[in-house]
Amino acid sequence: MPSDWKKTIENWLERQKLEKEAVAEQDKITREENIKAQEKVSREAKLKVLAETFSCFICGKKSAYPKMVSAGGYLDTGGLNDHYVDRWADDWSQPGDLEKCEDCHRLACHDHYKDGRCIKCWSIKINQPLSL
Ligand SMILES: [Zn+2]
Ligand SMILES: [Zn+2]
Repeated sequence: MPSDWKKTIENWLERQKLEKEAVAEQDKITREENIKAQEKVSREAKLKVLAETFSCFICGKKSAYPKMVSAGGYLDTGGLNDHYVDRWADDWSQPGDLEKCEDCHRLACHDHYKDGRCIKCWSIKINQPLSL
């Protein structure tokens, strides 16, 4: 007859292991939540700086989001057909909702921008006063 005390130890060890895992899991969740909270704060701070830095020179509309730039893609071979997946990242040095006029090099919102030029430069170009 094997004695029961070994079983008792095994049960105790098993319980210890489960408790440890539960604590580790909780730690992981807390860490992830902290990272998410930090990311949110830093995004809000960045958006504020972006809005303060970039605005339409005609109507003063502030930039509300950064420019998306390609962050390099990868070939997805997991599906039926291999296909290329693009990845995008925020470029905080450029506004995503304002365009730079090729003539005057100032930033204009989409209401005041068309095909490379701001409304003022188009006005000069076609020699006609333009307005919204
Ligand atoms: Zn504008
Ligand atoms: Zn212009």
